[in-house]
Amino acid sequence: MKRRGKHLVLLILAALLIAGCSRPQQQRLHHAQLFSFGTLVDISLWGASPAQVEEAERIIHRQLQIMHNAWHAWQPGPLTATNQQLRSGEWFVCPPAVMPLIVQSKQLYRRSNGLFNPAIGQLVSLWGFHSDTLPQGPPPAATAIASLLAQNPGMDAVSVDGQRVRSTNPAVQLDFGAFAKGYAIDRIVEKLVDAGIGNAIINAGGDLRAIGRHGDRPWRIGIRNPDRPGLLAGIELAGDESVFTSGDYERFYEYGGTRYHHIIDPRTGYPARGVRSVTVIHDNAAEADAAATALFVAGPRDWYPIARQLDIKYAMLVDDKGTIHMNPAMAARVQFETADQPEIILSKEL
Ligand code: ADP
Ligand code: MG
Repeated sequence: MKRRGKHLVLLILAALLIAGCSRPQQQRLHHAQLFSFGTLVDISLWGASPAQVEEAERIIHRQLQIMHNAWHAWQPGPLTATNQQLRSGEWFVCPPAVMPLIVQSKQLYRRSNGLFNPAIGQLVSLWGFHSDTLPQGPPPAATAIASLLAQNPGMDAVSVDGQRVRSTNPAVQLDFGAFAKGYAIDRIVEKLVDAGIGNAIINAGGDLRAIGRHGDRPWRIGIRNPDRPGLLAGIELAGDESVFTSGDYERFYEYGGTRYHHIIDPRTGYPARGVRSVTVIHDNAAEADAAATALFVAGPRDWYPIARQLDIKYAMLVDDKGTIHMNPAMAARVQFETADQPEIILSKEL
């Protein structure tokens, strides 16, 4: 009885010791979910002080406010005002919150051969995606799509001169839906670094940028399975990396057995075909975001040259048969979480 009592004391002491050791570890990880302006952001900070945690939440809230107010594609604000002026064909002073997105997306438009094309706002709107509620169908008339396509809206028609911009094509309507989230995450990370935060993940609906580490190990993140709830794969992130996924499951409606999703092929005017999702890892979030969209549009046959032009080093595309297309460096990093190993087609190295 006495010995058992002694053992018990020892056991309790050991448990306390373990708890005592692990508690500071746990306290070093701060995890919170912020819901701001309709966007859910998951934030993980390692080793931040309470003051830094508070500052991080303030930075994120502020940036989401800008994203919501300045870059909203259909609610009145700086972007809708810009679109109105672009239709006039005249030079005008662009709202400062919109200008850097125009400048950066003009480049990405070119480097993606126009597959990332934020000038197709009218097409996105025609398909019914400029609304908080999704359409019930049917899809738009083929003639309406064809007539917008014939006007050939593209970012090359938008010229920039100092603070002023103009469009030589009245069909241009800017929609930064494929890019603004990445751009916002980049601004958030810049400000976090300025606030002395070196280890963090900013995750907005599965699209994220990670800096630093999770203590003595890298950050680990999951990529959603496009077919069913749950994960397709896990990836470890080192240093400063962004992981962005474009999927046909994000925003879509079904009509007559066909899925109409929100990633439009600017060459056809219809939702891009043949792809379920594309994931890229890149060193900044804005380019990762634009690239994921561009490679989705490019599809299983053409994603590789577009990835090269965009200087993407890690890309994975899941096609509509569930086959995975990726480059060898990406394959070396993804750990599949699915029950059966998917069929994989490796490209040349990027
Ligand atoms: P998600 O991450 O939600 O899957 P994306 O980053 O691919 O989405 O962006 C899709 C959004 O981008 C659409 O809702 C639309 O606003 C806009 N968009 C659709 N097609 C294109 C395109 N080809 N180029 C640029 N923007 C597009
Ligand atoms: Mg995108």
